Amino acid sequence: MNPVVKSLSVERVLSPSADKFLIKKPTQEQAEEAVRTLILWAGDDPSREGLADTPRRVTKAYREFYKGYHEDAHEVLDRVFEEVEGYKDMVLVRDIPFYSHCEHHMVPFVGKAHIGYYPSKGVVGLSKLARIVDVYARRLQTQETMTAQIAQVIDKVLKPRGVAVLIEAEHMCMSMRGVQKQGSSTMTTQYTGVFKDPAEQVRFFTMVKSPGL
Ligand SMILES: [Zn+2]
Repeated sequence: MNPVVKSLSVERVLSPSADKFLIKKPTQEQAEEAVRTLILWAGDDPSREGLADTPRRVTKAYREFYKGYHEDAHEVLDRVFEEVEGYKDMVLVRDIPFYSHCEHHMVPFVGKAHIGYYPSKGVVGLSKLARIVDVYARRLQTQETMTAQIAQVIDKVLKPRGVAVLIEAEHMCMSMRGVQKQGSSTMTTQYTGVFKDPAEQVRFFTMVKSPGL
């Protein structure tokens, strides 16, 4: 396909992080109109009293669901880099809750992320890892992509000896529609550096699943 012709249909602007692009935003009115169309598509009357304010609420909720498009994971990690003296073992932050939306159906998938890494010369504040998860979760996603993105950005900015990311989630598009398998969870993993060693993967997994405090 001719890339010039393709770029004419949608205005694309590279963001500073270059891992995403911004598309020219519709107006508030256009977004609310789109919600009214979907209410009609669902079979209801967008002008009835209970739904009158719904388009405004939905557009507001979308700002929160998808705020990750306006955040830069590299910046989040850059700002909080701290030197560590002598600590060489694994840092593990587990049970980081997240809410995301699958890019195929725009319905939620909900779960927990676990992140482990072996620091080389620096660590990040623990809460920053939770923020990284949020930056990627609050976009239209697949669980696989999100897992890879989290591992990649930590690997790139922090340059640890290895990163391990495990995500477990329940996908509403499986529970509510299609095969309707409630309670099934999906696990995805991504390993870099020393975590390529199966023994390290076992250690990570054992620590993730060990009883809590
Ligand atoms: Zn889906």
